[in-house]
Amino acid sequence: MSRTFTVTARDGAARAGILRTAHGAVRTPVFMPVGTKATVKSVDPDELRALGAQLVLGNTYHLHLRPGEELIAELGGLHAFMGWDGPILTDSGGFQVFSLRATLLAADDDGVTFRSVYDGRRERFTPELTARIQALLGSDVAMCLDICPPAGVSRAELGEAVRRTTLWAQRQRDLPRAPGQLRFAITQGGLDEELRRRSSEELVPLDFDGYGIGGLSVGEERGPMFEATTRAASFLPEDKPRYFMGIGDPEGIVEVIARGVDMFDCVLPTRTARTGSALTWEGRLNLRNARFARDPGPLDPGCGCPACGRFSRAYLRHLVNQQEILGLRLLSLHNLRFLIDLVDSARQAIERGELLRWKEDALSRLASTGLETT
Ligand SMILES: [Zn+2]
Repeated sequence: MSRTFTVTARDGAARAGILRTAHGAVRTPVFMPVGTKATVKSVDPDELRALGAQLVLGNTYHLHLRPGEELIAELGGLHAFMGWDGPILTDSGGFQVFSLRATLLAADDDGVTFRSVYDGRRERFTPELTARIQALLGSDVAMCLDICPPAGVSRAELGEAVRRTTLWAQRQRDLPRAPGQLRFAITQGGLDEELRRRSSEELVPLDFDGYGIGGLSVGEERGPMFEATTRAASFLPEDKPRYFMGIGDPEGIVEVIARGVDMFDCVLPTRTARTGSALTWEGRLNLRNARFARDPGPLDPGCGCPACGRFSRAYLRHLVNQQEILGLRLLSLHNLRFLIDLVDSARQAIERGELLRWKEDALSRLASTGLETT
């Protein structure tokens, strides 16, 4: 039994639970806003709290290169540095290193060499270094360095990623941590059932505090990805949290919760805001569309965010068209609130034992208009 994580309700494969961290408890399922460079773009930590955000992501790759973990540690760690006293999860940087393929120089059993996206300098990540960076940042959850291949690679390459990810997880298992820091391993294997099973069977006996499901949502078709998620979740222990890395569209969130995933993150709410779009129960609204020019209504009538409480679609459209900073901020606040509310609603449905009905209703509402896809 894990005292770190308690499942409080089940409905089919889905679960509701509580993850206990050094900076407070997190109710799951939980959507985690991404604060890549120690900031959720344009959103103040007090605003994050007011939106109902429970746990924020930081990015090891970017914070290591700018401004550096030593500087952040000198200033009291990542919580103090960014003014957020709630739980923080840091990724390991592996996803950035392996997804920025043009900057990848070489990978071997010891680590991976790449060029910095900031200045082109040669850099190297090893399991030991990324664990040390995360210990200095002082995050509540540290992720193991893994190998995340893109979709469509050969089975041999997927198998090699699984082998090396296990090798690295073994080396990271007992490295020094920040006080109370939890450490999650990440299973790989892409869509391949046998490799995913092997990855899980190698990592689960190491008894990490939780498990990431990696190597999905990397460019493959959605149907097979969700089927692989069902299997990947089923290979993981019931009493440990499961984190699907990199999904954040409303439909995707609903699907992975139903498959037994507890945690997920995505830059989608703030990235979507930067394109002038809002996530709503009518689908995704592109505010550049002329049909909003005289629309006096809120983005989403059921939403309690600062944008919906005071401003019309017409005004938000004006801000977006004039590239005003307030437009970006208000859309970011709204999009984050929308996903946080969506996940709250899913959790309540799990607690009532009505997730399937809730899911069907949610997916049909989200698809009901579908006027815009951008
Ligand atoms: Zn809103």
